Amino acid sequence: MAHDALVVGGGPSGCAAAIAIAHSGSSVALIDRGRGLAHPWAAILTHDARAELEKIGFSTTIHEIAQVRVGDGERSMVRSLPPGDLGVVRRPEFDDALLDTARANGVEVLDHHDAHRPVIERGFVRGADVVNDAAEITLRAEYTVIADGANSTFGRALGTHRRRDLPHLITARGTWSSPLSRVVECEVLIGLRRSSGEDLPGHATIIPDGDGSVTVTVVVPSTARDAAAVNPTNVLEETARNIADRWALDPDQPIGELRSARLPTGRSVGPVAGPTFCVVGDAAATADPLTALGLGPALVSGSLAGRCVAEAIATGASAPLQAYPDGLDEIIRRRNRWGSMALNLAGREVGNRALRATLRLAASARR
Ligand SMILES: Cc1cc2nc3c(=O)[nH]c(=O)nc-3n(C[C@H](O)[C@H](O)[C@H](O)COP(=O)(O)OP(=O)(O)OC[C@H]3O[C@@H](n4cnc5c(N)ncnc54)[C@H](O)[C@@H]3O)c2cc1C
Repeated sequence: MAHDALVVGGGPSGCAAAIAIAHSGSSVALIDRGRGLAHPWAAILTHDARAELEKIGFSTTIHEIAQVRVGDGERSMVRSLPPGDLGVVRRPEFDDALLDTARANGVEVLDHHDAHRPVIERGFVRGADVVNDAAEITLRAEYTVIADGANSTFGRALGTHRRRDLPHLITARGTWSSPLSRVVECEVLIGLRRSSGEDLPGHATIIPDGDGSVTVTVVVPSTARDAAAVNPTNVLEETARNIADRWALDPDQPIGELRSARLPTGRSVGPVAGPTFCVVGDAAATADPLTALGLGPALVSGSLAGRCVAEAIATGASAPLQAYPDGLDEIIRRRNRWGSMALNLAGREVGNRALRATLRLAASARR
C-alpha cells in the first residue's frame, strides 16, 4: 500500500498535518492506535487553538469561558475574557471529532493501527510497519509525519531525543462530578502542596466542562527541588481535597482513573525534520513550558509540517522539509516567551514568586 504521505498518530497535531496534506490533493493515510476506554476529561481551547480549528473547518460543542480566576488559595484576581476567547472541550470526544474532520477532508484514517517500526530504505524513512488486531502490514509513503505524542516511541526509533538539560513538566489530571460544571469560569491556582503539607512550585487548573464534571490538572516543573520524588497523583489528590468545597466535588470519587504524565515542552526534542520526515506536536515538545497548554501549538505545528510535506510532494524535492525546523522555532519562540522564562526560574529560590508574577504577566500580555 503506497501513499504520498503517512501520518503516525491521530491526535490534534496528526489530524492537522494530514488535513493540510489532503488539501493539496496528495494521498495521505493517518494511523492511530486508539485511546482505549479513556474517560472524558476537559481541556482548555485557547484563542490560538480555536483559530487553527476554524481554518480546517472543524466545529464541535464548546463550553465558553468568560473569566479566569488566578489565585493562591487565599487571594485571587479575576480577569474577564472577550467572547469566543477561551473555551473548554471534552476529550476524547474532541479527538474523535477531529478524526471525522480528517476523514471528511479525504484523509484515509486507519484507526486501531499501531505503528511499531519505521520502514527505512537506503537510509530514508519510507513509512511504517503497522499492526492491528488482524494482521501486520507495511504502509509505504514518500514522506512520514510523526505525531505520536509525548512518549513518541516511533519518533525515538528514528533517533529523536529529548535534551536532558532542558526542563519538562510533571503532570496529573483527574475528573470529578460537580454541580458547578456549568460555571463560565476557569481557576488557576498558583502553588501546590505535597500530601506532607510541604509547598511545591507549580500550578493547578480547574476546568468546568459544562456537562456535569470538572477536570483538575496539576503541573510541576522538573526544576522543582526534589522533583524526582514528586508523586503527581498525590499532589492532584491533595489539590482536589483543597478545592473540594469551592467546586462542590467529592475528592474521593473521581470519574475513572487519575492519570499522570511527563510532558516535554519548549522544543526540547529534536531533530524535528529529516529528508523524508517531520515531527509535530508533543512528539516535538511544542507545548507551552509554563501552562502545559499544547493543543494550539500541536495544531499549528501539524499544519505547518503538512504544508511543508505537501510542497515537497509537489516539487519532488525534500528542501521544503528543511524549512520546517526554523518555521517551528519561530512560532514556538513567539508563543512560549513567558513560559520558557518562568520554567527556568521555577523550582529555584524565587520559584513560586516568579511563577505567580509570570502567569499574571502572561495573562495581561496575551491580548
Ligand atoms: C495533564 C495534561 C493536561 C493538559 N491540558 C491541556 C489543556 O487543557 N489545553 C491544551 O491546550 N493542552 C493541554 N495539554 C496538552 C495537550 O494535551 C497536548 O499538547 C496535545 O494533546 C498534543 O497533541 P498531539 O497530537 O501532539 O499528541 P496526542 O494528543 O498525545 O496524540 C498522539 C496520538 O498518537 C497516537 N499514537 C501514539 N503512538 C502511536 C503509534 N505507535 N501508532 C499509532 N498511533 C500512535 C495516540 O493514540 C494519540 O492519539 C495537557 C497535557 C497534559 C499532560
